[in-house]
Amino acid sequence: MAEVTRTEQEWREQLSPDQYRVLREAGTEPPFTGKYTYAKEEGVYRCAACGNELFRSDAKFDSGTGWPSFTEPANATGVELHPDHSHGMVRTEVTCARCGSHLGHVFPDGPAPTGQRYCINSLSLDLDTSAS
Ligand code: FE
Repeated sequence: MAEVTRTEQEWREQLSPDQYRVLREAGTEPPFTGKYTYAKEEGVYRCAACGNELFRSDAKFDSGTGWPSFTEPANATGVELHPDHSHGMVRTEVTCARCGSHLGHVFPDGPAPTGQRYCINSLSLDLDTSAS
């Protein structure tokens, strides 16, 4: 299914320990700690694991939650959504469609026009300002 596949050992070698915990073990960075929480630069947010184009800066908004938040993905096919019943909550997990890495969750309480809030870990993202 995923186009980019690596062994867990290869992911460990490629990613920092913090990135590995979020991207490969569905961890969550503490709120207000990520480098993109308040980022305003224009560009494309790529998957920190595989470089897949995930979100555009023009869909980013300040949700006040402490994580980068977007109203929509750059391409509907760039991400995959999965029901997530972990931690006693009913949520929708967002993963990278290209490599299967965990990105965050999406909630139906975002602003217009989509009403969606893609709540994404900074550790899962790599802002590419050359592609805006
Ligand atoms: Fe990816």
